[in-house]
Amino acid sequence: RKEIFKLQTGSSNLDNLLGGGIESMAITEVFGEFGTGKTQLSHTLCVTAQIPDSNGYLGAHKHSRPHRLKPIAERFNLDPTSVLENVLYARAYTSEHQYQLLGNIGAKLHEEPGIFKLLIVDSVMALFRVDFSGRAELAERQQKLGRTMSKLQKLSEEFGVAVLVTNQITSDLGEAEAAKPVGGNVLAHSSTTRVALKKGKGNRRVASVYDSPDLEESEASFAITKGGIDD
Ligand code: ADP
Repeated sequence: RKEIFKLQTGSSNLDNLLGGGIESMAITEVFGEFGTGKTQLSHTLCVTAQIPDSNGYLGAHKHSRPHRLKPIAERFNLDPTSVLENVLYARAYTSEHQYQLLGNIGAKLHEEPGIFKLLIVDSVMALFRVDFSGRAELAERQQKLGRTMSKLQKLSEEFGVAVLVTNQITSDLGEAEAAKPVGGNVLAHSSTTRVALKKGKGNRRVASVYDSPDLEESEASFAITKGGIDD
């Protein structure tokens, strides 16, 4: 599978903002505060990646964990049991382990070519923040982060999958600073598309594309629902 495809997010507003959806053979970074919908977007994509397409995609197999997927699968008229079975889940305990897991994932993608469409790294920065917490370790952190991001880029291109990384930010720095993701230049330069999420009223959220050379800077309003991301 080397043709570029776009995974629908569940919200046509957000799809339009992204030029059709989350693109394969590229890295999309979604950053925002706690509760902005990063996880629900990830879950929605785990389901929409399994909607049969013109390539006749039928899914993979094996275990998974996420229980929030069931109502999303139902919304897209997919069988919840097989949707869950088609998601592989692994938990990383250190930033080094996270990197090693990418190696395992590469082996898996190689073993079952054309089966997987989406690779999500939830909270890509979290373990780096723990493992390299001091100022003196910043250079090393950025070097290791760069290695992880290069690996993700390579996986997306070699296996034609869409890569989504989420990045939780905190807003104690005030409105202006809140819009800035951590990860510095390394993350900025290795993500193809960076999406900022902000809270709106109730279940409403606002997405904007951050720093993109290709996409027009504009906003999309969407909703977080039990059935996933929606308009
Ligand atoms: P993040 O990963 O960015 O912290 P989430 O994707 O977990 O955010 O979204 C959290 C928000 O979405 C909360 O405001 C919560 O009320 C809402 N939410 C989470 N799950 C559901 C659900 N199953 N149905 C409706 N709203 C939900």
